[in-house]
Amino acid sequence: MSEATLPALAISNPLCAVCLEETDGDGYGWDCYDCGIHWDEDGSDAEWLYPDDGQCPSTYTRKRGGLSVETETFRCMRMASHDVALTHEHSDLLFGWKTGGPGVSKVAA
Ligand SMILES: [Zn+2]
Ligand SMILES: [Zn+2]
Repeated sequence: MSEATLPALAISNPLCAVCLEETDGDGYGWDCYDCGIHWDEDGSDAEWLYPDDGQCPSTYTRKRGGLSVETETFRCMRMASHDVALTHEHSDLLFGWKTGGPGVSKVAA
């Protein structure tokens, strides 16, 4: 009986801190083209890939119930011209939102 050939590990790139998709490495750091953000090799110094484009203006307002209703507003962290098929994303939210879609003013439990 011959021994099984064990599979190699697939080494993946770091995940984008905003949309959690795998980044692209160019040898000088990491890029998320969906968000338009570049990071240095150690993951620091995030900056826009296309500075003239700016930040997506879409916001998501989360309401918290209770004696007084508090709201918290998150602004999409992707670049302004990101693909409309992609959800808007904020690194503090576990989900993305769509323009005009359900959940844009959802009450969090
Ligand atoms: Zn991203
Ligand atoms: Zn957006």
